[in-house]
Amino acid sequence: MTLSYVIEHMEDDDDSPKAIPPWVELEYAHMRSLAGPAAQIHFTSLSSASRSSLSTVSIPAEGLADASCHQAGIMQLMEERGVELSKVCLLDPKAEKALAPEDGDGEFEWFLFGGILGDDPPRDRTSELRVRGFPTRHLGPVQMTTDTALGVTKKVVHDKVPLDKIPYVDFPTIRFNAKESVEMPFRYIANEKSEPILPVGMRDLLHEDLNKSFDF
Ligand code: SAH
Repeated sequence: MTLSYVIEHMEDDDDSPKAIPPWVELEYAHMRSLAGPAAQIHFTSLSSASRSSLSTVSIPAEGLADASCHQAGIMQLMEERGVELSKVCLLDPKAEKALAPEDGDGEFEWFLFGGILGDDPPRDRTSELRVRGFPTRHLGPVQMTTDTALGVTKKVVHDKVPLDKIPYVDFPTIRFNAKESVEMPFRYIANEKSEPILPVGMRDLLHEDLNKSFDF
């Protein structure tokens, strides 16, 4: 069974040419490699300007999940596809139940995430999706970036790795050089060197942002 992942874009998105911030493009591209070739990813609720600036994200590529961008929001997409909302699992930090491997054995075929820049402390913007009545599951007590949440979900429901058996690193300090570093207020999947797995290009973007934020 092909598992589908949906990211409801919830950041400000007008029709300006650069409505999609660079970090979103990097995270959305990273999701395709995390989800793997057997999966499908849908990015919903995107303006036409954003869909065109994300066009590279939908180009088919070896080893990556197929991805498509939609102007329609999640509710309209599910209606168009005749998907019952009970088959759509919202990944929700405030859910009662933790995601488990068996959640991918037929109970859920769609896994929904808020396309939201994590904030610290979280403002619970996922609540805007929660009110739609989807079944929910959490991924543990620590906020993840959306791409990390998708990667963890895939490991649990597709690779059948229990949530507490996935290696994590919490609140890592990303060091750029002897003087510059930034602390990220999130949980990440850890690689074999116990470093946080970040989207390709994210480290450089964080470094640029660090310099920007100090440009007086
Ligand atoms: N700050 C936002 C969440 C941003 S994280 C808020 O407070 O709602 C972006 C998305 O990743 C969330 O909408 C959710 O779908 C998923 N996510 C992140 N951490 C999670 C967790 N610990 N459990 C379940 N879902 C999580």
